[in-house]
Amino acid sequence: MVAIGVDVGGTKCLAVALGADNRVIDSLSLPTAPGIGVVEEVAELCTALALRVGEVATSLGVGMPGTVSRDGVVYLAPHLPALRKLPMREQLAQQLGIHVAVDNDATCAGIAEWEMGAARQCNHALIITIGTGIGAALIADGKVVRGHHGFAGESGHHIVLHGGEECPCGRRGCWEQYASGTALRRMANGVSGEEVLLRVVKEDAEALIVLEEFASWVALGLLNLVNTLDPQVIVLGGGLGSSAVLRHFVADALSQQMPPAELRPAPLLVTAQLGPEAGAIGAALLGREVIA
Ligand SMILES: [Zn+2]
Repeated sequence: MVAIGVDVGGTKCLAVALGADNRVIDSLSLPTAPGIGVVEEVAELCTALALRVGEVATSLGVGMPGTVSRDGVVYLAPHLPALRKLPMREQLAQQLGIHVAVDNDATCAGIAEWEMGAARQCNHALIITIGTGIGAALIADGKVVRGHHGFAGESGHHIVLHGGEECPCGRRGCWEQYASGTALRRMANGVSGEEVLLRVVKEDAEALIVLEEFASWVALGLLNLVNTLDPQVIVLGGGLGSSAVLRHFVADALSQQMPPAELRPAPLLVTAQLGPEAGAIGAALLGREVIA
């Protein structure tokens, strides 16, 4: 018996099959289907992956890039605009006849890092994924913070500059306009985040200035969250966030912005441990929790 987890991205859907010992047995991915075709695709991935590993799927968890209510309705996914108030959990449960959980993708990645990765055994943790945008999972008092509707953790849309850069959410000055991979590319005049990091390693002076500026924006948003949640550990994950070079710069910037350590001890800042499968693994764990 396996738990299946699917991480739905803007361009790719990644499915993993998780054994009873939480080990990834196998994985499968497909380009993300357009519109509401994504529901059918997730169901297909679940069935095909279970078949491939020769096991029965007992549960399915799905991570979606957007706001998902506590009952598994996808309200808004900025990169999949056709999905609005889509009752995904209900549709998949009916179709597959197994337990299904649907949640935000960063929440899923955070659950994986909390249960079996860099935030293991921490009752107060903040997991921030930095990629095209910013996602967050908040762990407080040993529980995932979901909020009244289930929309907690939309930290990428904390406003850090009144009247600042336009954001797809409709407002201006959101944190992800200054501290995401997209923002870094803009600051570096079109050079990708990966390339900026490579140039910094080669001690390129211009890249160094850009990365210091970028890291100070990352740290500013983190400090707001530290003041809100008082975490023991902050895990940086996602395509850009998992970089050890970036962690080093953000740690420097955060220590400059934090109050003196004797007044406010700084949280530990670490990189994620589970790599690009974290979201799918967390989704599988979440789906399995529904059974428990
Ligand atoms: Zn925004």
